[in-house]
Amino acid sequence: MTTEGAPTRSLRVLRERAPLKTWRDQARAAISSMSALEAALELTPSEREGTAAAIAAGLPLSITPYYAGLIDPKDPEDPIRRQCVPRAEELSESDGDLRDPLGEEAYSPAPNLVQRYPDRALLLVTDRCSVYCRFCTRARMVGRDGGARSEERLRPAIEYLRAHPEVREVILSGGDPLVMSTPRLARILSLVKSVGHIELMRLGTRAPVVLPMRITPSLCRTLRQFAPLWVMTHFNHPRELTAQAKAACERLVDHGIPVMNQSVLLRGINDDAATLEALFRGLVRARVRPYYLLQADVMRGTAHLRTPLQRGLDVMAALQGRLTGIALPKFIVDTPGGHGKVVLTPDAIVRREGGKTWLRTWRGAEVAYPDPQKTPQNSGE
Ligand code: SF4
Repeated sequence: MTTEGAPTRSLRVLRERAPLKTWRDQARAAISSMSALEAALELTPSEREGTAAAIAAGLPLSITPYYAGLIDPKDPEDPIRRQCVPRAEELSESDGDLRDPLGEEAYSPAPNLVQRYPDRALLLVTDRCSVYCRFCTRARMVGRDGGARSEERLRPAIEYLRAHPEVREVILSGGDPLVMSTPRLARILSLVKSVGHIELMRLGTRAPVVLPMRITPSLCRTLRQFAPLWVMTHFNHPRELTAQAKAACERLVDHGIPVMNQSVLLRGINDDAATLEALFRGLVRARVRPYYLLQADVMRGTAHLRTPLQRGLDVMAALQGRLTGIALPKFIVDTPGGHGKVVLTPDAIVRREGGKTWLRTWRGAEVAYPDPQKTPQNSGE
């Protein structure tokens, strides 16, 4: 296993092979064909079959040389590799799998806009990503719906926002908004900000993880102009916390942009307490707040990456008390069909009796918390 910040041998090879210092260089050199993938890794039969199918019809393939360089090429179960290299299992459908697991199409009041809660909405500004994750909730549209949205295409969504003052927050998502040029992104941010009642913007991106050179000082200065703006990123494994990735997060924070992380719980990749403890501690050291640990959505063809709900509860129970609250995210399941998020917690209440509630602590002890004694002042008599 690679230690934080220590590049693997293949990363060094990739860096030496071509000058890929800028994010544009990385995007141009992204692995997006079977031959490029085979040149970087020795593929298993399942990976070859999954890759051929993905390229032919499904979620497209793209892996930045930077991210590919984090893979241990000798390990088919490498946690970085499993996030970005297709497998044959993607071709099978399981009971309960959905094409649009969060019901986003049903909750879309205007093109490129999703509103599932009264006070916030998601603006889909592009369908492109620098790396396509094999567990992506929006696999139905990423990489194949026309690229970055023009201001013209976003106009109905902006008009909807203007007409709905109850919406106070807009989350820019996609795809990954940071595959767009900075001036283009700034124009979209200005458009959203021009809606007077929008108080807060968030920007969802995996760039700090898969393309950290995208987080340039110039981008940070641009984003700073739109404060309050929060960056939501998506690290899933401590091996992703390289020196470059951590520096990207710190650059954002140094420019006054808070960074929060949403991890997805993925079978065989990060579904154990030790891996997640290392990830959450590493994020806090990089000044990133672990915000959510998300149960994987029931996206079609991703059953091989999903865990039973109990797995997440067990992991959270193991981390409770072991990790500072700052490093402990909420465990969330986004319910299938777009019915919204539910926070899952290990059962803390053991019983209620005799004016006391018995709670189970992280050490397993049962401790009573007394209800307030009834007095004329608080009993309503
Ligand atoms: S970066 Fe986000 S939108 Fe893009 S493929 Fe990964 S999970 Fe999907």
